[in-house]
Amino acid sequence: MDTIFALSTGSMPSGVAVIRLSGPQVRFALETICGSVPQARRASLKALRRRDGSIVDSGLALYFPGPHSFTGEDCGELQVHGGRAVVHALLTELEALDGCRHAEAGEFTRRAFENGRMDLTEVEGLGDLIAAQTEMQRRFALELASGGLSRLYFEWSGRLLYARAMIEAELDFADEDDVPGSVSERIWADMAALAEAMQGQLEAGKAAERVREGFRIAIAGRPNSGKSSLINAIAKRDVAIVSDIAGTTRDVLSVDLDIGGYAVTLSDTAGLRESGDLIEKEGVRRAERAMAEADLVLYLVDMTANALPAFSQENALLIGTKADLVPNPERGGFDSVISSSTGAGLDALIDAIREKLAARIDPSVMALPTRMRHRQHLRESLAFLSEAVIEQAKPVELRAEDLRLAADALGRITGRTDPEDLLDVIFASFCIGK
Ligand code: GDP
Repeated sequence: MDTIFALSTGSMPSGVAVIRLSGPQVRFALETICGSVPQARRASLKALRRRDGSIVDSGLALYFPGPHSFTGEDCGELQVHGGRAVVHALLTELEALDGCRHAEAGEFTRRAFENGRMDLTEVEGLGDLIAAQTEMQRRFALELASGGLSRLYFEWSGRLLYARAMIEAELDFADEDDVPGSVSERIWADMAALAEAMQGQLEAGKAAERVREGFRIAIAGRPNSGKSSLINAIAKRDVAIVSDIAGTTRDVLSVDLDIGGYAVTLSDTAGLRESGDLIEKEGVRRAERAMAEADLVLYLVDMTANALPAFSQENALLIGTKADLVPNPERGGFDSVISSSTGAGLDALIDAIREKLAARIDPSVMALPTRMRHRQHLRESLAFLSEAVIEQAKPVELRAEDLRLAADALGRITGRTDPEDLLDVIFASFCIGK
């Protein structure tokens, strides 16, 4: 096994740069460069030298002996001044050491996974945490990275396994009087409750995935209702063409924003109206698609030109625009009344958007399947579990087999199938009759 190293911090020059190492040669590498292996898990100030004895830099050196390290192997860290020449000299020096090579992308985390230090959802969470740009993305990612989802699914796997064990025990001991008849009833009630919890996760997971990927908000309305002006006012920069000629915003323009901690992609759509112009027709088609796919639609109505339309859509906010041109703008029927020119009503609109998004998330439940991959396996698991729960006429051996398949599908989410060692725990915790 090679010892790998890499610069773990971002672009240079920077105050500090961290070089990480992992593998069997870490002690040797630290000894060669720092003169001695630092005390485990303590930062030590060291002169960092080339093999010819010349000093490259002085910095902090750390040593994390395996298996209680990030990768599970011996790990080391050099915290040095973040200059290009400093880091280049140290990487060159490390490269020259026996059995040491530069790490490939993701290789530290891969070793952590292979050594059982992290499971798949934790790896994904770590990736999300590094990519997180908004507060809510960070919170979901941290929960995933710190094993929140793994713990929940591990508990569920345990319940599935326990149920199977009890059912099998009941079959084996069916002739004896000491298996209480209520066992099976209790087990199936628990399995029904588990199926319900899975269903809840699937539903909440969809919203959580939107948090990870960004909610899609479509700004819709007739031509000239002020869509481009609103997107510009919200983004506070010019992202869309604003013009007086109706029908000039033909394509869907998007801007990525952080609204109250939620990542949002705001799309300006072409004006919705009947048109003979081919290009514009295509624009209208795209606008309708953007509206249908959106998590939230901001439907704009020019208050100087149009009355309140008969428009109601659950995931929409009806917004009166150009309030500055209307003598006494009132909310009457509109969710918000705004002026993109003066900025009036924009903060309240942003609050209303945030509320709409926040209503989809229960902040007390962060351990959720935020990826399509999670939900696919969860759906599979639920299908087997439901089959087992509902099909009461089916031979109980087959229902127990469905429970096994449900546990397998669940295990694929974390990449750790059937926790066999749980069997010992379970069999130790119950005894049949005596
Ligand atoms: P879109 O076709 O829906 O994208 O509408 P635009 O954003 O291009 O706006 C159409 C016209 O209305 C432009 O001349 C804008 O300057 C004007 N407009 C948009 N919002 C406001 C507003 O809040 N107040 C005023 N006075 N004019 C506005």
